[in-house]
Amino acid sequence: FLYNQVQDLKGTIRVYCRVRPFLGQSNGQSSVDYIGENGTIMIVNPLKQGKDSRRVFTFNKVFRTNVTQEQIYVDTQPLIRSVLDGYNACIFAYGQTGSGKTYTMSGPDLTTEETWGVNYRALRDLFQISKARVDIIRYEVAVQMIEIYNEQLNGLNVPDASLVPVTCTQDVLELMKIGQRNRAVGATALNERSSRSHSVLTVHILGKELASGSILRGCLHLVDLAGSERVDKSEATGERLKEAQHINRSLSALGDVISALAQKSAHVPYRNSKLTQVLQDSLGGQAKTMMFVHINPELNALGETISTLKFAERVA
Ligand code: ADP
Ligand code: MG
Repeated sequence: FLYNQVQDLKGTIRVYCRVRPFLGQSNGQSSVDYIGENGTIMIVNPLKQGKDSRRVFTFNKVFRTNVTQEQIYVDTQPLIRSVLDGYNACIFAYGQTGSGKTYTMSGPDLTTEETWGVNYRALRDLFQISKARVDIIRYEVAVQMIEIYNEQLNGLNVPDASLVPVTCTQDVLELMKIGQRNRAVGATALNERSSRSHSVLTVHILGKELASGSILRGCLHLVDLAGSERVDKSEATGERLKEAQHINRSLSALGDVISALAQKSAHVPYRNSKLTQVLQDSLGGQAKTMMFVHINPELNALGETISTLKFAERVA
């Protein structure tokens, strides 16, 4: 019943690092010393001397700043396709605010397909393959968009976070637009809020094999995580402090779950956050997990860059 070669992905967790380019006027010093061919990245701290000034991290792959959205997607494709064979999968974007998470997942501009991020490429692929298999399997696709803000789950596009049947990528793009309108906040406020909430686009697949009548179900979660930056407790108060604490707690709960899975630990602590509870069925077991960790190469982001890479190293 398997149409794709996904065996090599089974039960594995893949971690990819993407370094975003310098933006606009900001072409100062970089914290990235070099990116190796074999998944290594060396970070340099010019304020330190000798061997303490450099540190190497190793992942499945490190993407250079000039990588295209298409190149980013290529490695994700087998995992996406496995969902049509009945697997569950999660793709995460992790990193501090401004490091390129939304660029990777959604893209900077939805009007040109060339800049589409992983989300739309994944859906386009799923629709294409399901159409090609129409004589063998009939697929139904439905999506759900939620955000988790302060440990509360909200529907983005429909009030009750229900499943919406879709038949083409355009349907999904329309839903995204409705979602933006429903949020009824300005662009800046939206950006602010989105950096403090996890947004999850879930794609549900139901396939019926025509010959045997057997049914398969697959589920793909595309997760644009809240910004991972630590908030100075002496500065943040009230609502901002509460948000920061919720984000810290849920990101470390996610880290705990993924590293428990990576180490094949007997106990996986899913219950510690709303995010890991929501994703429980798609983390572990036969499910596949992929994480893009994002780096802002500017020297003034060095502290966050190191803590992002340490987080990623722990789950890799
Ligand atoms: P985040 O979602 O992590 O807060 P964004 O994806 O919004 O970050 O990226 C912050 C800014 O950097 C945006 O202006 C975005 O267009 C730009 N950017 C991010 N990644 C890239 C990239 N790979 N290439 C070009 N610009 C990028
Ligand atoms: Mg974002």
